[in-house]
Amino acid sequence: MCQDKPSKGLNKAAAGAETKVDANGEVIGQRLSCYLAPTMKESPAEAEIISHKLMIRAGLIRKLAAGIYSYLPLGLRSIRKVERIIRAEMNSFGAREVLLPAVQPAELWKESGRFDKYGPELLRFKDRHDRDCVVGPTHEEVITDLIRREVRSFRDLPLNLYQIQTKFRDEIRPRFGLMRGREFIMKDAYSFDVDDAGADLSYRDMYQAYENIFTRCGLGFAVVEADSGTIGGSFSHEFMVLAESGEDALAFCGKCSYATNLEKAKIGDYLIYEAPEAALEKVHTPGCRHVPQLAAFMKTPESSIIKSMLFEVEGGEPVLVLIPGHREINQTKLKLALGGATPALASPEEAERIMGVPMGFVTPVGAKVRILADLAIGRMENGVVGAGQADYHFANAKPGRDFPVGGYLDLAVAMEGDPCPHCGAPMTLKRGIEVGHVFKLGTKYSEAMGAKYMNREGTELPIIMGCYGIGLGRTIAASVEQSHDKDGIIWPMALAPFQVALLPLQVQNEAVSQATQKLYGELTDLGVETLLDDRDERPGLKFKDADLLGLPLRLTVSEKGLAQGQVELKERRGRQVTMLPLAGAALAIKEARDEALKNG
Ligand code: ATP
Ligand code: MG
Repeated sequence: MCQDKPSKGLNKAAAGAETKVDANGEVIGQRLSCYLAPTMKESPAEAEIISHKLMIRAGLIRKLAAGIYSYLPLGLRSIRKVERIIRAEMNSFGAREVLLPAVQPAELWKESGRFDKYGPELLRFKDRHDRDCVVGPTHEEVITDLIRREVRSFRDLPLNLYQIQTKFRDEIRPRFGLMRGREFIMKDAYSFDVDDAGADLSYRDMYQAYENIFTRCGLGFAVVEADSGTIGGSFSHEFMVLAESGEDALAFCGKCSYATNLEKAKIGDYLIYEAPEAALEKVHTPGCRHVPQLAAFMKTPESSIIKSMLFEVEGGEPVLVLIPGHREINQTKLKLALGGATPALASPEEAERIMGVPMGFVTPVGAKVRILADLAIGRMENGVVGAGQADYHFANAKPGRDFPVGGYLDLAVAMEGDPCPHCGAPMTLKRGIEVGHVFKLGTKYSEAMGAKYMNREGTELPIIMGCYGIGLGRTIAASVEQSHDKDGIIWPMALAPFQVALLPLQVQNEAVSQATQKLYGELTDLGVETLLDDRDERPGLKFKDADLLGLPLRLTVSEKGLAQGQVELKERRGRQVTMLPLAGAALAIKEARDEALKNG
């Protein structure tokens, strides 16, 4: 295809300047004119966040169907960069690479109990023999099956196996390009240990490996505590790239090291409405169904109102949850309080059927259902609650005196400025993109699927497991989300598809053409990954495309510069321009590249 290019100017002269391949067979130099790197002026209407827009516009990815993308050469090169960093770190921590099948027999998922639990995200199908199969959204079942067959004794452990593989999750709302796809590439690792202490060491190693990986990727990230459900002996951390567009809300203490996903953010004692105890009093509150209306009508702060919210509980009786009026209920905390049963807010109709009164006037006073209250409710002497009668509320209600509470628990969603549960300093809320997740699983899968080992004494015991995931596409997208400007992507050196954009401005000019070829040869010989824009296009267009693609270093060869024996080096990030003598340019660029790689 490239050979058919018009043989004029640089293209002819550059016949020798074909794709350069290094000793490992990796492409180190590439001409843009014969590369599939289609740039676009406009981004597709559906692209909501900047990384999605830029990755499409720069020609890194193309959509095939909702949440399913093809990686074009440039996009794939960045993916490979992340892969290499991951491999280097995983290998150096003693993990071993495997590759597990994408298609998995449903039997394994029935054994673990997840075939029914996983929900519609799990893509299920039948093969020609009518056997139930799934396309792996994750690989705990497959790896546990492998281990229960291969591991016999404590001598075989510890073990950490990882793979870089394509997952499928039929996400309800695939969006943001590679950020939340249905098909996506994940590095997943699984550790197997003889005891808790060993499992904790494996976890610590992976935590460290992840810190190294994301640092080497040049990302600004935070590690937060994550919800690990109700499995005994388990815990979990998420690696979050901080970005406004992040789907996760995070809470950070301004003083101590407390950092957590908002889902599990505990709250220290916070002050709410303070008023002296008084006798319960029924008040006519016509039409006041919602907290703001009621607060305005009663001329009282929203924090003085005790919201009574009815939840239906999976496999159990409904519960009435009490929370200060200005607060939201944290469903993850509530689920934990309910011993792991999933709560769902009752619909207005259902709430009215169970409580015998329209929503907004539901009362805990004399209620027949179990009552749970937020800790802050327990600190109230005086509040406003529904009166269990349409259009009426009680003033001066006191928890414990006027209605029984089955338990006071931390149930609210943390808010900006709430006190840290450890040190009391105000917490800050930020948004993040979850790029990695480490999880101490304990014996959940080994117990369910019978993955055991024989200890020194000859006793069979369940293996203690951990699992560790990184989304590769999401990591690339998060990098773009964090590092771009109005003109395009700004790649960190470590993830850039190429390290240098080589831009000859007048490709027809003999001197320019010759100098370009010389530089291209020198750079690639020095191992600098170079993308040569050999297209016979206007300089303005070349500069625009170079900014859009965002390679860290741009080397411009022009007639004007050559007249002074110089070429122009421009850094994409700081936009700093340096004129370099043609003779030493390649070496100077190699040094700049090495420096940038060192600094992440
Ligand atoms: P999320 O909460 O974002 O749905 P998850 O908790 O389901 O993620 P894990 O099962 O922990 O994700 O998967 C490990 C890693 O795989 C995540 O940290 C993320 O980087 C990546 N990942 C998960 N789901 C997707 C997806 N739909 N698209 C792209 N990457 C994903
Ligand atoms: Mg997760």
